[in-house]
Amino acid sequence: MSHHSVRAIEAGHSNSTMSSPNTTSIYTAASYQNVDVERIMAQLWAIIIGTVLTWRLLIVLFRYIRHIACLGHDKQRLFMKTNSYYAYVKRHMVLAPFFHERHHREFRLSAAINVGTLPSRLQLFFLTVYYSMNVTLCVIHLPHDAERDVLAKILRNRTGVLAVVNMIPLFLFAGRNNPLIWLLGISYDTYNLLHRWLGRLVVLEALAHTLVWTVNKVQDTSWNAVAKQMVVNPTIGTGVVGSLTLILILIQSPSIIRHAFYETFLHVHFVLGITAIVATWMHLQNLSQQSLLGGAIGLWAMERFYRLVMIIRNNLGRNSTQIEVSALPGDAVMVKLHIARPWTFKPGQHIYLYIPNIGWWTSHPFSLAWSEDEHDTHNEKGLPLDTFDALAPRKTTMSLIIRRRTGFTEDLWNKTQSAPSGTYVTNALVEGPYGEPLTLLNNSHVLLIYKS
Ligand SMILES: Cc1cc2nc3c(=O)[nH]c(=O)nc-3n(C[C@H](O)[C@H](O)[C@H](O)COP(=O)(O)OP(=O)(O)OC[C@H]3O[C@@H](n4cnc5c(N)ncnc54)[C@H](O)[C@@H]3O)c2cc1C
Repeated sequence: MSHHSVRAIEAGHSNSTMSSPNTTSIYTAASYQNVDVERIMAQLWAIIIGTVLTWRLLIVLFRYIRHIACLGHDKQRLFMKTNSYYAYVKRHMVLAPFFHERHHREFRLSAAINVGTLPSRLQLFFLTVYYSMNVTLCVIHLPHDAERDVLAKILRNRTGVLAVVNMIPLFLFAGRNNPLIWLLGISYDTYNLLHRWLGRLVVLEALAHTLVWTVNKVQDTSWNAVAKQMVVNPTIGTGVVGSLTLILILIQSPSIIRHAFYETFLHVHFVLGITAIVATWMHLQNLSQQSLLGGAIGLWAMERFYRLVMIIRNNLGRNSTQIEVSALPGDAVMVKLHIARPWTFKPGQHIYLYIPNIGWWTSHPFSLAWSEDEHDTHNEKGLPLDTFDALAPRKTTMSLIIRRRTGFTEDLWNKTQSAPSGTYVTNALVEGPYGEPLTLLNNSHVLLIYKS
């Protein structure tokens, strides 16, 4: 972005009053600073991603060297001694919970009220630096000696630019298939946490953007004039709709509301998100920041498209995916998935299950418990096949154990209870597999699910 964007910012945001040559030069400088802000944010993310990637590659290389060195060493004790500094940083920073013994667990105010997961110490450090940097970029190089009107316009533009820039990681981190998950080896849970904190930051910046405009306008004119502008001026009207929608998203997304009505939350979040995007897109008409928003939308659309492709690939072949659900003692069912096109998974991974007869288009995550290879015992004409025939077509089934809760899982449990044969058979769609394979270090979330 260069002269084009600078001109665009000036055209879009500085044409309401006649400017003196001095004021014009202040606006021009501020526009270039906004370009710098965008560049600094892009460089920041490039540094973060580059650092984590380098770290990850070094670890992979180190593991490989250790593996090779240990292969030809009969005692295999070459690397037994750990680096105490690295172990200390890992223990007290990377893996440490924010509070003692509260390791990424839902933070509960009481047995009934949980207020979400707290960031780990490393995540908190990152968020503190990121928020501080955003605050600094909002206020740095503001012309404090300039008239209120000029200062307000520049602060308004700066906060607006930052809100749009932050939408790029915000949208990217929302997806289950964000490519940074496998590239950097950071879990979706972490990106989800960052998505929530970036969302709060975008709302704060958009709110600051709107408030600075409103307060300045009220001081110059009146509340009536401000209200009139919202109706007659499409840039102002769409900006206000965008900001109000973002505030609604903030109100509807705290953990306590999200978990109490998860599906409702998801649908409302989706509708409000689309409204905010459309309003912001219109608000940014003729501004270069519209292409940044376009990039964010593109990332989000690509992730959705990939999910669609994955669903089609997994579930639509010569047959479609079917499930057999049978009741288990207690409030649980076992789901056997007969997947149209089998794939492999590793222990600790999970899938998203769609059962249109029960949950329409909604999907729910469940851990894969085990899989079995089954030989077809009959050929296409219905004649029995020798089950020991190595060339006999193979079918893979995968199984889930699902605990009855109060929504989709309860409906599934009820259907199974009322099935005459004791087994409920229906069509389903499976999306996945997702998640890091289970290791000793990351199995805590699986244990938590069953404990909760
Ligand atoms: C990675 C992962 C693996 C899981 N594996 C299993 C498993 O193997 N077996 C099992 O019984 N449960 C598992 N769960 C939990 C399971 O997804 C929820 O119990 C199920 O989605 C609840 O659906 P419901 O409509 O009956 O929920 P509700 O009774 O409406 O809500 C119960 C809880 O489930 C959460 N929840 C509801 N819908 C979703 C959703 N679409 N995505 C995420 N959370 C949701 C709610 O926030 C709430 O905390 C897993 C969850 C995750 C995140």
